Amino acid sequence: MASKASKEIMKEINEKLLLRAIYESDGIDRASLAKMTGLSPATVTKVVGDLIEIGLVEETGVADSTGGRKPILLNVRPGKSCVLGLKIGVGYLDYSLTDLSGSVLASERKIMENTVPEEVVSATGEILAKWSDLIGERLLGIGIAVSGIVDSLRGVVKNSFLLDWKDVPIARMISAGYAAKTFVMNDVDSFALAHFWKGNVDNHKNCVFITLGIGIGGAVAIDGKLHLTGAGSGEFGHMTIEHNGNLCTCGSRGCLEAHASFEALARKLFSITASNELKELYSSVRATETSEIHFLKRALEIDRASAESVFDQYATDIGIALKNLVNIFAPDYVLIGGEALEFSALFLEKSIDYAKENAFSSLADAVKFDTDRIGEKAWTLGCIYRVIESELFTVGK
Ligand SMILES: [Zn+2]
Repeated sequence: MASKASKEIMKEINEKLLLRAIYESDGIDRASLAKMTGLSPATVTKVVGDLIEIGLVEETGVADSTGGRKPILLNVRPGKSCVLGLKIGVGYLDYSLTDLSGSVLASERKIMENTVPEEVVSATGEILAKWSDLIGERLLGIGIAVSGIVDSLRGVVKNSFLLDWKDVPIARMISAGYAAKTFVMNDVDSFALAHFWKGNVDNHKNCVFITLGIGIGGAVAIDGKLHLTGAGSGEFGHMTIEHNGNLCTCGSRGCLEAHASFEALARKLFSITASNELKELYSSVRATETSEIHFLKRALEIDRASAESVFDQYATDIGIALKNLVNIFAPDYVLIGGEALEFSALFLEKSIDYAKENAFSSLADAVKFDTDRIGEKAWTLGCIYRVIESELFTVGK
């Protein structure tokens, strides 16, 4: 006979299995759940009854009858819990509060003078206090997206060159302060996960995500699953594109990021422009996304010819990266995102053409190149999904 403990485990496994199936459906009835999961109709009825009782699942209507009674459709109740997502950027913190369906209940950007861990913790406390009426007792957890090498299992940012963080146990720092389950992941992994959840990845299985902005990040999905190593993967910004090229924040030379970050573009413009106005403006550029984007936009107004030549080289550099990625991963889907899309008219088509012309044609022909259509929200949506997945669908929580 099964022991009490193993019965409890079985109950939890069935509950999570059904909950995920209901969550991923767009309304599903009990008979279909039984068919899909292989559980007996009696077990499905019992577990669904329990989930309805705790308010996590609700009956939301009826489907067309195929004979007999009309099947009642089940959905996860989005308002049962909420999740706080945080993207730690260079010079800013982006907060989003969503319900279980990912609908945004509140969002806010905090501009930070210094993005040091202690200030991120206190800013998070302020947001939780500010939104306490919205959150009530419903906070399922906090998801954090941050650039660099992240050990998600331990909740530690091992190395973020952009933020100058090393071995920061940010998940523990936040969960200790605010008694909330906290998860941390690489920001581009979060961005990629958001596209699997809410984007247009559709049925593509092998996907490459590259984000272009103040830094250059990447993520890879193989057979529909993100390739997560905990040791850092998908650091596309640090592929070498030029031997003995520019010095990179990682200590190496000739990295893509050292040649094609916003800062690198601004520096290049400063060195070639004859405009004193632009040179002067350069001296006021700060190491933040907003400041660098502002400079590049102004450069296009003040000295368009120089700016265009810098973006021409940028198009080639990004094209080289895309070509390498296509040849290495043979993806069927490549998504390009990041703040550089503001300048897409100046480089994107050229970059994609370069990749198509220079990669193995059999591979290049099979790729769908796409651009981010979720926008800034994608950076936090992925880590929000990660919280939902971990807290609702993972056995042993
Ligand atoms: Zn590098």
